[in-house]
Amino acid sequence: MNTSKTKNKYQIAVVPGDGIGKEVMEATLFVLDELDIDFDYVYGEAGDECGQKNGNPLPEETLDIIRNADACLFGAAGETAADVIVKIRQEMKMYANLRPVKTYPNTNALFDDVDFMIVRENTEGLYIADQEELTEDGAIAKRIITRKAEERIIDYAFNYAKENNKSKVTGVHKANVLKKSDGLFKDVFYEVAERYPEIETEDFYVDATAMYLITQPQSFEVIVTTNLFGDILSDEGAGLVGGLGVIPSANIGEDGALFEPVHGSAPDIAGEGKANPIAMMLSAIMMLRYIGENEEADKFDAAILKVLNDGKILTRDLGGSSSTMEVAEAIKNNL
Ligand code: ATP
Repeated sequence: MNTSKTKNKYQIAVVPGDGIGKEVMEATLFVLDELDIDFDYVYGEAGDECGQKNGNPLPEETLDIIRNADACLFGAAGETAADVIVKIRQEMKMYANLRPVKTYPNTNALFDDVDFMIVRENTEGLYIADQEELTEDGAIAKRIITRKAEERIIDYAFNYAKENNKSKVTGVHKANVLKKSDGLFKDVFYEVAERYPEIETEDFYVDATAMYLITQPQSFEVIVTTNLFGDILSDEGAGLVGGLGVIPSANIGEDGALFEPVHGSAPDIAGEGKANPIAMMLSAIMMLRYIGENEEADKFDAAILKVLNDGKILTRDLGGSSSTMEVAEAIKNNL
């Protein structure tokens, strides 16, 4: 974050992207503008349409806009999503992927009382496309685990717990089989834990965790894990609290932070005003907390909660018939 800026004035990179990305972004900015914060939006292009227009789905100019901003709000990219997001993550050294798993009322959640955060390492592990190679017999994928990267993500998770009044962090690994790589992860987990004596710790194998997420999801507060395990558990978490329309995410890095809904550009409903803006709005709330505007974040979150609780103004994915902007208006009126 650029701390040289005056208090309460932030430069935000806004990248609406493709399809419903544009619609949910418009709805989110509509509500953000009502908050007691001064935002300076700088718009950037990325995604399929941008690629067709400029011959590049992620122009250097957009990367500069993201790099120079205090934070970035990203809507969605279509077919080019993987390239665009992976490149942004690499360029900005975004090492932490955050996926909250929290129940909101009148959504398709399987439980009504779940609230935890998955902190996933995003730079190494078994997830790096150029670390695969073909061999005579088949193929090999390398799983690199470094002390430096794992210490950084584990420390991020403990610090997140401390700053967000969470009392427990769960380390997830498979150290009984991957004794060297996940053995290192587990050792580093307990080393870092010593710096946070006020926070309770536990560690589970990833397979057991997959089961506990279904049988006792209420017992988790913060989960920290390696890249691929985090990828899988994040989507399991999304399934627990139901519906792509309500799942936000954050990518935090050394040179920038990006907040985006988990859903894509949804070409099947794009341009029809049917998209649920709440995932994008919850991503913006994560951004508000990242820049330290917790009070405004609480206000925004409470307004969303009120509209969901009332259950009258909901988009189709949640069983209602309201439009994207009708939901945004209802939320704005409840601030
Ligand atoms: P992309 O190629 O951009 O990933 P997709 O359609 O394959 O697009 P998603 O955009 O994630 O993947 O959408 C999957 C399904 O969920 C679609 O049927 C879409 O309409 C629906 N969906 C996704 N996001 C929302 C939303 N915000 N509101 C309502 N429905 C949504």
